[in-house]
Amino acid sequence: METKLYLVRLGEISLKGLNRPFFEKKLKNNIKLKLRPFHNVVTKQKGRLYFEIDSACSDEQCELAFSTTFGIVGYAKCVKCKKDVELIKETTRQLIRDYKFSETGTFKVQAKRSDKNFEMSSYDLSCELAKIIHEEYPNLTVDLKNPDNVLHIEIRNKAYIYTSEKKGPNGLPVTTAGKGMLLLSGGIDSPVAGYKMAARGLKMECIYFHAYPYTSDKALEKVKVLASKIAPFLQGTRLHVVPFTEQQLWIKSHSNIDETTLMFRACMMKVATMLAKKNNATCLVTGEALSQVASQTLDSMAFTDSTTDMLIIRPLVGMNKEEIMKTAEEIDTYKTSILPYEDCCVIFSPKHPLTRPIIEVETQHYEEMQIDDLLVKAVEETETYDFYSSGKESIKD
Ligand code: ATP
Ligand code: MG
Repeated sequence: METKLYLVRLGEISLKGLNRPFFEKKLKNNIKLKLRPFHNVVTKQKGRLYFEIDSACSDEQCELAFSTTFGIVGYAKCVKCKKDVELIKETTRQLIRDYKFSETGTFKVQAKRSDKNFEMSSYDLSCELAKIIHEEYPNLTVDLKNPDNVLHIEIRNKAYIYTSEKKGPNGLPVTTAGKGMLLLSGGIDSPVAGYKMAARGLKMECIYFHAYPYTSDKALEKVKVLASKIAPFLQGTRLHVVPFTEQQLWIKSHSNIDETTLMFRACMMKVATMLAKKNNATCLVTGEALSQVASQTLDSMAFTDSTTDMLIIRPLVGMNKEEIMKTAEEIDTYKTSILPYEDCCVIFSPKHPLTRPIIEVETQHYEEMQIDDLLVKAVEETETYDFYSSGKESIKD
């Protein structure tokens, strides 16, 4: 079987003390899950994982796996050979013929010698390989500070040679921090919130409150697209779609107009908490940012917190909209998020919502609504959709 080799550079994980094997194992498994069904063998060396992958797995598939797996700082397709200088030179020549450097401009050789018994110093090895680059690309000049092309060579148990390292998403491997429930609306913020928490190692399932026909099927489709776009970062995810029309109408007819948003959020948290407990998740994640809208004042958030005994994590709380939008573009959710299908919050929200709620008062008003049975019903009627880490949705059974 023909194989190709990828080098994966680990970041924050390498700094872990006694826990390091735990994080490394999770990372290795997360990558392996994404490369499935292609045969692959992984070997570990200090700060690196090497994946030997069946060539039938395209470069795009490999790169999708590496570029979306938290815990990876950088990755590169590479070649390896025995630690023999002549062989290294020949392998380098072949590599730079296959991988095209720019014909003009600058280059640098970056040599690293972890095996101190190797016969040449890093400097001498760099000079030897620079000669080869000069022979193949006579118009390139050396620039050690800002090179257009870099050739890396690492002398370890073998010689590993590669030309272009790509950036990984950094962070910690998903699942190392446990599991949460992401409240995923169709907006810009919540997919970014999910991405941010996945970067800290949190596995998440998603919940969407759907008030059909007030929110259209197109809105649901949009949320599914968002779930599929964040799925690779989350190592796959499950979307729980909660039918919420009856409940929304109940809130509207049983609460004061300026309190409907607060009541709606209280109901969302209670349903999310039930679904979280049912699915072994121990926190809720939302895309709220302080003072972004009326329902995101300190007092409103404090009331929301009081409606559940579960930890609510708000990773965007201190971010401004520009920063959030920038990340949304980077993870390719922005274009989908700005599609114009209304979310149910918007349709039912009052013109002048209460921004300084008092917890005791709102708690009493919530209880007077007597909506709890309807919330249990919503949980029972919830439908689920699964999204693989490739982003694809599974066929529903
Ligand atoms: P977003 O851009 O994420 O929609 P937003 O700025 O529109 O956020 P809100 O509508 O007040 O703000 O929602 C705040 C958070 O509440 C969202 O980030 C999301 O986590 C959650 N949320 C709101 N509506 C829904 C919904 N229909 N289904 C699931 N979660 C929701
Ligand atoms: Mg919204």
